[in-house]
Amino acid sequence: MIKYFFILSIAAQFIVGQTYSKCGIIPETENSVLRNTYNWGYGYNDLLNDLNIWNESPFVTIDSIGASVQNRALWEMTISGEPESTTLPRIYIHTRTHPGEEESFWVVDEIINILLSDAPYADFIRNNTIFHIIPMYNPDGVELGYARENAHGVDIESGWDDNPLEPEVAVLKNRFIELMDTPNPIKVALNMHSAYACYRYFVYHDSYGTSPLYAQLEQNYITGVRDYFLNGIEPWTHYVSWTNGTPDQYPESWWWMTHGENVMALTYEDMNACDDTGLYDSTANAIVRGTMDYLGLEYSGTDSDYIISPARFVLEQNYPNPFNSSTTIRFSILMNNQLTTSIHIYSATGQLIETVLNQPLPSGDYELSWDGSSHVSGVYFIQLKIGDKTQSRKMVYLK
Ligand SMILES: [Zn+2]
Repeated sequence: MIKYFFILSIAAQFIVGQTYSKCGIIPETENSVLRNTYNWGYGYNDLLNDLNIWNESPFVTIDSIGASVQNRALWEMTISGEPESTTLPRIYIHTRTHPGEEESFWVVDEIINILLSDAPYADFIRNNTIFHIIPMYNPDGVELGYARENAHGVDIESGWDDNPLEPEVAVLKNRFIELMDTPNPIKVALNMHSAYACYRYFVYHDSYGTSPLYAQLEQNYITGVRDYFLNGIEPWTHYVSWTNGTPDQYPESWWWMTHGENVMALTYEDMNACDDTGLYDSTANAIVRGTMDYLGLEYSGTDSDYIISPARFVLEQNYPNPFNSSTTIRFSILMNNQLTTSIHIYSATGQLIETVLNQPLPSGDYELSWDGSSHVSGVYFIQLKIGDKTQSRKMVYLK
């Protein structure tokens, strides 16, 4: 088996006093531009399929909490051994506000895998929490191929103080209000994104915009998560926002202004189409375990009890890269399955260039080469797909 080494040079980045702009989008993808496939490889129908699969778990309840502009249901999964409990703390996670940030969904997908696993630790989590998850908060944007907007062309990450609210914002805000009105309200609210900055980090809100106590709680939370993925997630100092007061248009603004120190509400940014994009399971594991620690839910099992979500396949960076004739693509499949394994090559504008491989494969390490000589120089994406799961790598072909 190929050992997969993850080496990331940590360059702590202090960004103080800047305007609050999330996700670090690159200009050419800012507005309604296709980056990969039309729905970035995971569309509304993919979600409906997965919801059917997840729904087979006895710990899952799925409800529509409202509708998008184009009348697609906004699906919420509740995962708990005791979903009707009036004492267990709630954790709320929503993702794909920005459709083009599908990496944030893959992290959430791995969080779901952890929560539904048979591992003893997963049982402990389900018996002590209620997770609410929206896997696709902006389904219209996903289906329309928009990078950031809903069907009205509005970025619904913002505008939480608008009047009237965009339909999706109204639905989520009402749901937050409803759950905060229960005897066991939300304690942690995570807003999942991914950024071209090519780091994994939380957006930390400075005490000037929150409070010294809240800033300390944020540091505790972020450090606690990071302890489980030290080389993968940046320290809390990486991205500091709200240095000149509290903005009023974001979900975290609403949380702070409405519930203050009672709710740990943070945006998490994964890596959007970077060389080191991936390791979603490691990130998910860190978020889940860090969140449990933050809530004071200590599990006293053995180390092996925690092993709940091994990576099922790994696409390595091609080599050489950049390349001028052909390049080697290596990947490993870590479990046997009956699913079709495919390798697709996409152009930077999302056009399918070539299907290099398309057949079921047993577990093992694989290597194949791709010859770019009949194509133009430029950026391409390798996508490894097994069943409905994908991993992608960026490569550069220079003639
Ligand atoms: Zn985003």
